[in-house]
Amino acid sequence: MNQRKALITGITGQDGAYLTKLLLDKGYQVTGLLARRSSDTLWRLRWIGVLDKIDLIDGDLADVTSLMRALEKSQPNEVYNLGAQSFVGSSWDQPLLTAQVTALGALHLLEAARIVDRSIRIYQASTSEMFGLIQEDRQSEATPFHPRSPYGVSKLFAHWSTINYRESFGMHASSGILFNHESPLRGIEFVTRKVTDGVARIKQGKATELRLGNIDSTRDWGFAGDYVDAMWRMLQQDEPDDYVVATGRTTTIRDMCKIAFEYVGLEADKHIVIDPKFFRPAEVEVLLGNPAKAKAKLGWEAETSLEDLIHMMMDADMERVGREA
Ligand code: NDP
Ligand code: GDP
Repeated sequence: MNQRKALITGITGQDGAYLTKLLLDKGYQVTGLLARRSSDTLWRLRWIGVLDKIDLIDGDLADVTSLMRALEKSQPNEVYNLGAQSFVGSSWDQPLLTAQVTALGALHLLEAARIVDRSIRIYQASTSEMFGLIQEDRQSEATPFHPRSPYGVSKLFAHWSTINYRESFGMHASSGILFNHESPLRGIEFVTRKVTDGVARIKQGKATELRLGNIDSTRDWGFAGDYVDAMWRMLQQDEPDDYVVATGRTTTIRDMCKIAFEYVGLEADKHIVIDPKFFRPAEVEVLLGNPAKAKAKLGWEAETSLEDLIHMMMDADMERVGREA
């Protein structure tokens, strides 16, 4: 049988690293779209040990011609569109860039695939941020959307574009509505990594306080390593579809912090400082996913508890902070 080929946009991000590892372990030939940056963005691929096992092609989601070239060159069976301006907080400062990359970028990719090879299977990285101001206590594929940020709005455009290309052109395009997922490779701007890095600094005497915004909101957090497996499973189905991927448990930022502080014998209340700078113009107060469909149809379930996840991230950050001069 021919070796299966995958193209990943956003390969230098958290999920890109875990998905690359998963696909290589399954015997795929993996190509990544590399958006040119002046600083090193390859550290995650190095950390997870895959950098010398993949091909990288220069390209940008904002440039549809670069996507067409990447598809022609890599000839993938599967494309995973993970590339995005993915940080909610920045999306208010850069709403147009967010729309160009996160919304239009996804349409560029769908259009490039339609022109180059419609049989390519496509995964779109949709998000629980599309539920925003939640319309049901537990959000499933049937829950109405109400995004609360330029990021959420952009992702909703990309989500509906994916469904539209499926319905219009019969393309095998699936959306994973993934709830927050974290790991030692999570960007430092996201709250879990900010907390595990900050707690490690306090424990090692390099900081005394941790400044945060709204710690009363709740998130349904899982482990990125578990979640990339759900992405792959979606593209192995006979029919394309949308799936919520979540743990089914929600926790406040406050309680997540406690897990991190307690792990190294510190008290959260003594170090957390609430800073209005980190509050958002509109907040997503609660997210809680219902992953029943993913379980029934994909045979997928989250395997890592929030405690194990935060402990894993704490171990990595204690080690990283310890190595700093
Ligand atoms: P990251 O922020 O870690 O990675 C984003 C990736 O997109 C990076 O590789 C980045 O490249 C790339 N990128 C940014 N701009 C462009 C561009 N113009 N052209 C091409 N690539 C670009 O995100 P995650 O890995 O955490 O998430 C993966 C995807 O899943 C994202 O689309 C995200 O929005 C979505 N998602 C994530 C969730 C989560 O909890 N992690 C939840 C639900 C959805 P560079 O390194 O060069 O900046
Ligand atoms: P998001 O769900 O994609 O926005 O993921 P984040 O990790 O960025 O934020 C999760 C929640 O943590 C949101 O409700 C934020 O308002 C809240 N939060 C509180 N303090 C902070 C902070 O200092 N940084 C970030 N990123 N989020 C914070």
